[in-house]
Amino acid sequence: MAEDFYKVLGVEKNATQQEIKKAYRKLALKYHPDRNQGDKSAEEKFKRVSEAYEVLSNDEKRAKYDQFGHAAFEQGGFGGAQGGFGGFQDPFDIFREVFGGGGGGGAAFYDFFGGGQGGYSQPDANAPEDGSDIRIEIEVSLEEAATGAKKTIRYNRMENCPDCGGTGSKDGSARKTCPTCHGTGHVTMSKGPIRFSQPCPKCGGAGSVVENPCPKCGGTGRVKSRAEVKLDIPKGVYTGARLRKVGAGNAGYNGGQPGDLYVVIHVGANPRFEREGDDLYTNVRIKFTMAALGGTVEVDTLTGKASLKIPAGTQPGALLRLREQGMPSLRGGRNGDLYVRVNLEVPTKMTDDQRKKLEEFAIACGDANNPGAPQSSGKSEPFYKKFF
Ligand SMILES: [Zn+2]
Ligand SMILES: [Zn+2]
Repeated sequence: MAEDFYKVLGVEKNATQQEIKKAYRKLALKYHPDRNQGDKSAEEKFKRVSEAYEVLSNDEKRAKYDQFGHAAFEQGGFGGAQGGFGGFQDPFDIFREVFGGGGGGGAAFYDFFGGGQGGYSQPDANAPEDGSDIRIEIEVSLEEAATGAKKTIRYNRMENCPDCGGTGSKDGSARKTCPTCHGTGHVTMSKGPIRFSQPCPKCGGAGSVVENPCPKCGGTGRVKSRAEVKLDIPKGVYTGARLRKVGAGNAGYNGGQPGDLYVVIHVGANPRFEREGDDLYTNVRIKFTMAALGGTVEVDTLTGKASLKIPAGTQPGALLRLREQGMPSLRGGRNGDLYVRVNLEVPTKMTDDQRKKLEEFAIACGDANNPGAPQSSGKSEPFYKKFF
């Protein structure tokens, strides 16, 4: 007969969710296999505690359990368990959920120790912990995005203290859990009704301190530094593209791996070209006569010039395409296209000869609205005609 879930967690039948979670945290840490290497009974207890927590932390499952007991979780019962407790979640998944993804060793693992509840062992102050990633944003021009670019960027990162080699110790003495934050690396402050968390001032977020701290880094093992990294920006990059530099993030603690650097690309606006995916859009002005008769015009591309054929009878606003004169594709393959929007230039000044020829052209077209066209009747001349 399986043990009562309430008894497993050591809580009353009417325990609140907060009490259940608190009891689970305490027991899960106590029996976690990482802390009880090779101890089979601890592992079994860890599993039982997780099962009890899984059921009691869920209002729906808890109600079923209160009504039917363990039968609710047996074959064909609630939750579709394939016999016995086979349907329960992985106890380590539950552990990670409750402790915030840290699993073992990460800062989140230690969160529980905030407030310094006694009764179980403190986390290992000498355990390595990986450094965090850094994310920075840089702007590149559209031209740089088209050709690719090499850039050197500078940014702030935490690096291993050069004086103590990252140990934080002046004389090589071991680290111990920080007495201020109890190993969590952060402290909870309150401002009126608002509680917020900030890096522990004593250990600088490391969660541990040394007996004789290194004077350069104050015992944290890490110092702020200005880092430099050379970037190869590939051609075809777009806004939101991310470049990753492994190990260029913040240094770890106690020999943990450094985090990574993520450089997020922002492609700046361009006065001449609009971009849509790998295609570019631009404008060109041609004379109205060329639009009517057809011809060839030179247009700027991002990287040079190209000649664009204007078909006879091109209308204002027409979109003409120059194949593969757009952006290169980041993933290789075919370039985007360049779309050229045609604007017409209408003459504002003409010589007498030009005007005459254009009037003749209008007459030839039978365009009666043209001022140069003959009046339909000579009798009703508008009065203003007299002044011209
Ligand atoms: Zn140092
Ligand atoms: Zn601390």
